[in-house]
Amino acid sequence: MRPKTRMIHSGITGDEYTGAVSVPIYQASTYEQEAVGKHKGYDYSRTGNPTRYALETLIKDLEGGKAGYAFASGMAAISAVMMLFKSGDHIILTDDVYGGTYRVISKVFSQFGIDATFVNTSDIEAIVSAIQENTKAIYLETPTNPLLKITDIKAVSNLAHKRDLLLIVDNTFSTPYWQQPLVHGADIVVHSATKYIGGHSDVVAGLVVVNSEKLSKDLHFIQNSVGGILGPQDAWLLIRGIKTLGIRMEAIEANAKKLATYLNQHPRVRKVYYPGLENHIGHDIQIKQAQGYGGMISFDVGSEERVNQVLKKLKYFTLAESLGAVESLISVPAKMTHASIPKNIRHKLGITDGLIRISVGIEDVDDLIEDLAKALN
Ligand SMILES: *Cc1c(COP(=O)(O)O)cnc(C)c1O
Repeated sequence: MRPKTRMIHSGITGDEYTGAVSVPIYQASTYEQEAVGKHKGYDYSRTGNPTRYALETLIKDLEGGKAGYAFASGMAAISAVMMLFKSGDHIILTDDVYGGTYRVISKVFSQFGIDATFVNTSDIEAIVSAIQENTKAIYLETPTNPLLKITDIKAVSNLAHKRDLLLIVDNTFSTPYWQQPLVHGADIVVHSATKYIGGHSDVVAGLVVVNSEKLSKDLHFIQNSVGGILGPQDAWLLIRGIKTLGIRMEAIEANAKKLATYLNQHPRVRKVYYPGLENHIGHDIQIKQAQGYGGMISFDVGSEERVNQVLKKLKYFTLAESLGAVESLISVPAKMTHASIPKNIRHKLGITDGLIRISVGIEDVDDLIEDLAKALN
């Protein structure tokens, strides 16, 4: 199957009992048992629900894994993955990781004795130097948020497997339509499905795909024990979102390339971060490991005052947290998504007060360029 067809025909499609083309929403918490313990595969919806299972099978197929799991948010999914580890374990993470991931690791899991080091994972040597005797996993985001830094998944997976470490990749920015980390040797993929996979700014959800029976057993045990599951309505919305993931990502990509090129030549823009630009660090690796560059662009206008001037004049870019929707969104990482990262660390990473991040939507690109032109000039 080719990629666009996979979005429509993977996983479990329709309903075998009625012929309905869309998977039904099984709004049920429990299931009748013929005799004690004898049932049709479902006994309680925390453990398993048919609509959620259809979504979990779909994302498993799209990422090329052994099993998929759906959670109530990206953070619930990431937290479930972190529960694979125990007190005394150490994890290495990308330094400009999503702010919420930084927060849960440094403020919550640290309390349970899980230790973490944040390094620039684009630099393999930096990862090697951070490995300790108790290191159990490497956790990557590529491209990163908001500077779109690229990490070579294959190179890190070779390193991880030589040292017997798990490789976890947050694939939110690329989606399985553009990038499949498991194919390059990752063991676990996590998603904030709130973003591109849902795609319409109307659902909060998280997904995990694992590449082995052992991880599948362990993660289902955690999902059922801790209970941060996705409800059937939201599972259905994600299945619906995925049907158009291919055409949305193609449309977003076309718009993003034009916008990045426009911003890159603009005299009032100091720097543009977009993996599709040839001068972007990591451009060559991105071409090697992904089929597209995605729809996230960050650019620096120099100061907080300039940021506020630009924001005031925009018409089609909605000022909001989040990303990956059909409508273009704009945010100021230092004040919004990355506010939980201490200022000195933020500045060291390059997340300046003049940095603006846009999530390109599927509007007519000429309207988006006109809008930016008016705001910048
Ligand atoms: C939004 C986001 C998350 C967290 O997901 P939620 O659905 O908001 O809980 C994790 N990683 C990345 C890259 C994100 O953009």
